Amino acid sequence: MSLRLTKLDSPRVVGYEEVWLATDPDVSYRAFLAIHNTRCGPALGGTRLMPYADDDAALTDALRLARGMTYKCAAANIPLGGGKSVILQPPNAYDRAALLRAHGRAVDSLKGRYVTSVDIGTGPEDMVIVRETTTHVTGLPNELGDPSPVTARGVVCAIEAAQYLRTSRRDLRDVRVAVQGCGHVGKALALQLYALGARPIVSDVSRDRATAVAAQCEADVLPPDDIYEAEADVYAPCATGATLNARTIPRLRVRAVAGAANNQLETNRDGDALRARGITYVPDFIANAGGAIYLCRVLAGWTDAQTDAAVESIFESSVEVLRRAEKEGISAQDAAERVVDARLGLVASSSSAASAAGGSTLLR
Ligand code: NAD
Repeated sequence: MSLRLTKLDSPRVVGYEEVWLATDPDVSYRAFLAIHNTRCGPALGGTRLMPYADDDAALTDALRLARGMTYKCAAANIPLGGGKSVILQPPNAYDRAALLRAHGRAVDSLKGRYVTSVDIGTGPEDMVIVRETTTHVTGLPNELGDPSPVTARGVVCAIEAAQYLRTSRRDLRDVRVAVQGCGHVGKALALQLYALGARPIVSDVSRDRATAVAAQCEADVLPPDDIYEAEADVYAPCATGATLNARTIPRLRVRAVAGAANNQLETNRDGDALRARGITYVPDFIANAGGAIYLCRVLAGWTDAQTDAAVESIFESSVEVLRRAEKEGISAQDAAERVVDARLGLVASSSSAASAAGGSTLLR
């Protein structure tokens, strides 16, 4: 075992507290570990293990995801910061356990400033192996259970916020919600909406999965690409990222978007495009914070009541950001980022400072 960590200091990592390239050629281990911001607490972020075209692509992913975690945690007022690690999946046969142990050693060398968990390409059983070489890991089997229903509840709160701003009522009865993706969160969301009297419409690349969920909530099933033109009030992206872009936004017939997927906007300009079309957008890192909030039970010792209150406050946070966007004539994405930037002291713009002084709930 010959683990080596090299701290990056290129212009690309400006604004990040620390970014490391970790390698152990003996076990084909090559990874980037990014800590974006620890002002609110240790940086939380899963370990992604997948093939990347090259180092540049892997680093880009780590940086983008670490920053996203900072915004998610800060917006939700949870005592965690933002980090991420990505392991470049070796192109040839490799010893997965040895690779994960090497990763655990790399995580351990950061001495708790970064806490890892599961992400694409890793699962709870992998975290058991990572745990052999570091204690700074969560997402172990039987530790917590599936956070997805909690994430879905947060998305319901975000949808209610969008509804409230239009109608002055939180009530979702007869509101039609087009749910894209019937996986862990999408399924839980469709069922929760149905229980509240809303009318879900579902789609999934797996027709069987969509049909099975639809049967439980009297939903119509749409082919995957048709979801963008669904006759619905709300579009809830719960599959992959970047589904809000120059190709899809002109097709939307909804008046609001709120869902669980990470990085829903292809670029921040797409937030402006939604606004120009009069579509209310609840930024993803606010709407989908339930999963991160749920982890506070383990990482911060929160009680169920504290966790529930934090998830329910997604309604309040969403209303606040949407109102601020309206007032300042900017997209909800930009408004939400400004609020978090002010909280983290990342910028000191006059508008952010004014908001902070005004006692924003996000800035508590
Ligand atoms: P999942 O893998 O269980 O489900 C995703 C579903 O989307 C699958 O059923 C898949 O077949 C389907 N899908 C993929 N591409 C599709 C497409 N183009 N059209 C329709 N369906 C498509 O994942 P999940 O845990 O439900 O998470 C969903 C999204 O929410 C992901 O982007 C995830 O990163 C994000 N998220 C999840 C949580 C959580 O608690 N699970 C928390 C925060 C964010």
